[in-house]
Amino acid sequence: MINMDLLTTKFKRIKEANPKKIRNFVRNIALDMLSLKFELSDFRAELEKPRIQFLYIHHIFEDEAENFRKLLKELAKYHSFISYSEAVNKVLNNEIDKPYIAFSSDDGFKNNLIAAKILNEFNIKACFFINPDTIGLKDFSQIKIFCKNRLLLPPIEFMDWEDVNRLLKNGHEIGSHTMGHINVATTNTSQVKENLIQSKDILDKRCGNIAHFAYPYGRFFHFHQDALNLVFETGYSSCASAERGCHIAPGRKLKTEELFIRRDLVIGDWNIKHVKYFILKNAINASVETNKNPYQK
Ligand SMILES: [Zn+2]
Repeated sequence: MINMDLLTTKFKRIKEANPKKIRNFVRNIALDMLSLKFELSDFRAELEKPRIQFLYIHHIFEDEAENFRKLLKELAKYHSFISYSEAVNKVLNNEIDKPYIAFSSDDGFKNNLIAAKILNEFNIKACFFINPDTIGLKDFSQIKIFCKNRLLLPPIEFMDWEDVNRLLKNGHEIGSHTMGHINVATTNTSQVKENLIQSKDILDKRCGNIAHFAYPYGRFFHFHQDALNLVFETGYSSCASAERGCHIAPGRKLKTEELFIRRDLVIGDWNIKHVKYFILKNAINASVETNKNPYQK
């Protein structure tokens, strides 16, 4: 049984426990200044640039819900929301005709249902990247150890399979995030292969054909070319990082293996101006090079 009192249900609790408070404070001031520049200048042309911005979240706690709703309302002014599969297909088919946003979420926390409820209000279909090992995990000490060791977070409840089914019924997609949130770069190839195959098998059976994969931790150095080859050999048709950037039309059709997705993290609690600043910065720096994987020589 889960002792509900011990699970984290407020984002405030995570912020309080964050040892990098001073760094965050400085970062906020810097972002305030940068986003102020954005407010004062005319960047309309950049924002109207045809592109796909992939955004991802990990959690929407109750105390993030209202700000997240406001963020979506703001983003809707400049973008059309499309599903993850539509977004991937648009890049592959060289069909990016206006500004789009595609949402995803990593790690499968129970509060993804709060996120889904808000996404549903805007008719946004997201892709939820989950770890089969944690779905339905009810033992508090196991949750605590997993969250601490694999996610660097206090104990947070995970979804169960019924929750996952509810997401599917609402038109969302499910993707693989490996079995147990492994660091691919420090895991031997046979285990990586096993993780890719096993998670796809389990999710295929439970959720229908799984097309998308996002590797844990998400920086380029958490992954490599051999793992990328295995992703496509296993039968996934996309692979996502968590490196910032947006995607513009590549100028020709791409093969599935040629696309390496960039996603920008969004925390529901973040200052909306700061999120807009990151999105604008991506639009300004948009390049066809961003579609490529970073391991290509
Ligand atoms: Zn993750």
